[in-house]
Amino acid sequence: MSRIAKHLLPDSAKTNALGHLEIGGCDLISLAEKFGTPTFVYDEAHLRARCQEAVRAFGKQRVVYATKAFLCGAMARLAYEEGLLLDVATGGELFVALNAGVPGSACVMHGNNKSTEELKMALDAEVQHIVVDNFDELDRLDALHASGAKRARVQLRITPGVAVHTHEFVSTGQDDSKFGFNLRNGDAQRAVDRVRSSASVEFVGIHCHIGSNVFAAENFTQAAQIMVDFANQLGVDELTLGGGLGVAYIESEHAPTITQWAESLAAATAKLSKTTKVFVEPGRAIVASAAVTLYRIGSIKQLPGIRTYVAVDGGMSDNPRPVLYDSGYESFLPARADADRTERARVVGKHCESGDVLINDAILPSGYAVGDVLATPVTGAYGHSMGSNYNKVTRPPVVFVRDGVARVVVRRETYSDLVSLDVADSV
Ligand SMILES: *Cc1c(COP(=O)(O)O)cnc(C)c1O
Repeated sequence: MSRIAKHLLPDSAKTNALGHLEIGGCDLISLAEKFGTPTFVYDEAHLRARCQEAVRAFGKQRVVYATKAFLCGAMARLAYEEGLLLDVATGGELFVALNAGVPGSACVMHGNNKSTEELKMALDAEVQHIVVDNFDELDRLDALHASGAKRARVQLRITPGVAVHTHEFVSTGQDDSKFGFNLRNGDAQRAVDRVRSSASVEFVGIHCHIGSNVFAAENFTQAAQIMVDFANQLGVDELTLGGGLGVAYIESEHAPTITQWAESLAAATAKLSKTTKVFVEPGRAIVASAAVTLYRIGSIKQLPGIRTYVAVDGGMSDNPRPVLYDSGYESFLPARADADRTERARVVGKHCESGDVLINDAILPSGYAVGDVLATPVTGAYGHSMGSNYNKVTRPPVVFVRDGVARVVVRRETYSDLVSLDVADSV
């Protein structure tokens, strides 16, 4: 195996005179020394380029960044500055967006079990729209309106009944789903009838999201055609086609670009009424390949005839995806960015579980040793956001790099943070 493939690295990645990998003009080995490990390093220009590509393809205020993929104040501001709206699915995500200075009118409220408090928070913030998931939520919106809350602009989440090629945990558009109003059994039409005659909400459109990490254009176009037919039949002003565009995590994978995704959606929505505005909600495709995680190797255990274990100083607490979805990753040594990779090993974390595997079957350059920095690319989505402090491992910092400057946008968690929620006099 040769060096790590370019298409898995952030746009600005290049090998410098020392043979080290550089991102945003910053040497990864220097970053590991300066900020410690593990650390998430994001190429800010790459993030902005993906936002700009999406806005070019779909229009300003038509791209709703799914914040659950990666959210902190800096990312919320970046997406807003680039003309994206923000998809928030909980009160917590809405709080982080508002706290970053993003106006409520740039936020879209999601969630399959929004509490009354979360709905009230969204109404008070005057969010762009609420994507209503179920009848119980409509009851709660009615009750809020009756007690004086503003009238919500709502889209209805529809389950179009398409099964997609992805992991079952992230497939959401099939009939057997916890999300949305089922189209086939008539729930979708019943929900439309209810909101059209409701005084507490303003019905503006319909929404679907069929799943995540989807590669096949036909999955998107099939769902889009079903939604276009329904939207035309209803004569709605707005149609959201969800997110879900997949990204390549390993060398053999190649994903469509945001532009190609837009082209297939444009073809599938050709028959949509010209007055209906189309929204999309990409998360992963904006942020995943913008980041790499830097770890340090702490232990190498050789089991002749079985395998080699390479243990790093993070694991399932900063990247639970391999455990959750059996996801594949690649790795490389930033100190020898162009070295051929010839040695097979299992890269594991430091948690007290055999399942704490980052890469089942990694390939590394020969001669790697304890103390080396090891990097995994494409960790910008659903890593930091799904992380935990299991085993009371402190969460890594997030560093944005650009034009030779590295700035910490989320600091490393400290031991004091780990006890900051304990109530001191409760013993
Ligand atoms: C998760 C989610 C998205 C984004 O999914 P990605 O796969 O990250 O693009 C968009 N819309 C909704 C409703 C979601 O739940």
